[in-house]
Amino acid sequence: MEDLPPSPAPDSPGAGGVSRRSELIQATTPFRMLFGFLRRRAIEDARRREDGVLDFTFGDPHEMQMPAYVEALREAAVPRSEQWFAYKQSEQPAQDAAAASLERVVPLGWSGADLRMTTGGFGAITVAMKAVADPGDEVVYTLPPWFLYEILAVEAGLVPVKVPALQPTFDLALDAISAALGPRTRIVVVNTPNNPSGRIYPPATLTALAELLEEASARNGRRIWIISDEPYNRIVFDGATFHSPAQFYRYTLLCYSYGKTLLAPGQRVGYLAVPPGLPDAAALMDAIDSLQIAGGWLFPNAVMQYAVPDLERLSLDVGALQAKRDRIVGALREMGYEVTSPEGTFYVWPRSPIPDDEAFVASLERRGVLVMPGALFETPGWFRICLTATAESIEAALPHFRAAIDDVRSQAPPG
Ligand code: PLP
Repeated sequence: MEDLPPSPAPDSPGAGGVSRRSELIQATTPFRMLFGFLRRRAIEDARRREDGVLDFTFGDPHEMQMPAYVEALREAAVPRSEQWFAYKQSEQPAQDAAAASLERVVPLGWSGADLRMTTGGFGAITVAMKAVADPGDEVVYTLPPWFLYEILAVEAGLVPVKVPALQPTFDLALDAISAALGPRTRIVVVNTPNNPSGRIYPPATLTALAELLEEASARNGRRIWIISDEPYNRIVFDGATFHSPAQFYRYTLLCYSYGKTLLAPGQRVGYLAVPPGLPDAAALMDAIDSLQIAGGWLFPNAVMQYAVPDLERLSLDVGALQAKRDRIVGALREMGYEVTSPEGTFYVWPRSPIPDDEAFVASLERRGVLVMPGALFETPGWFRICLTATAESIEAALPHFRAAIDDVRSQAPPG
């Protein structure tokens, strides 16, 4: 019998220590930036209670939840059978309701069997990555990204490949994406409507991307998948039409979360959808099912799943959100900020009046206004304002945005 390696001495490095996997996750730029930011925000939260700090950081609710949402959960919590709170995977009524609703947004002939219920968008993306990619495979995504892509990819053993978007439009940089597609590429993540830029990618862009991926897949002799991260696909402004990458490229894993439309991200529910008619879909579904179990029972709680048919009838007030967008974009432009009006999501993404976005964000923070620096999205020179804050908070913050840019101007050398 082979000798086992000697046990480390109790006080040697690594003894009783943490895993290499967790160290790799903590070493990622987004992790260090985000959790550093969160730690500071905890301090700010304490201050806010005292000073009324105006918080435009995360997509969290700032007003009481709509009563119909609460009622749906209350109803769903009342047991109808002994099995009500038994172990649940994906519940068919939830799958069917979600598929019918998805069909109205992305008309591809979905049925409930094409969907798996997940613990929000996080759960869907994590399972999607692991269902098609193996450790060492590359995952391409655009900067600025949702800051968790890198963390989820590294946890899955994948190698992130980052491609900056075109500035200042924040469209997909198709030439750069094409150059980034190598023999190890397995996944391209597309997020539309985009957090943080608010951009909705048009059909021409998605068609061109699909062509690139067909060519690169043929070159590699191995399929490249799109993970379409679209939790904001119902939050669009000015009657814009959203198009999913799944409508242009059938090898797309569509990830959705209810956390945005219902503005209740703490109640974890979403889904991973596999386009109908995909060859070998049965094997893919088996892969997803097994990974949801092996990942630590990555299914939403029974109560959330029972509530889905009712929750599908509800939405935050997109008109009110659009009014907040119009107010802040108009006011910022009038003050001299460079800002594109977002086509969807609940974020506004202005250019920082000075190249050092962190310094500018710190200057706003000193005035009691919290926003996120572009550095957090690996895109310095910009910053993100979240519109889930109340209209009153926006009004209260406008004089501070004005004072901050006036300060920059008064410090600029005359020229
Ligand atoms: N994808 C994007 C682009 C997001 O903005 C978020 C949340 O902010 C998620 C995925 C994850 O959503 P959830 O927390 O509802 O799972």
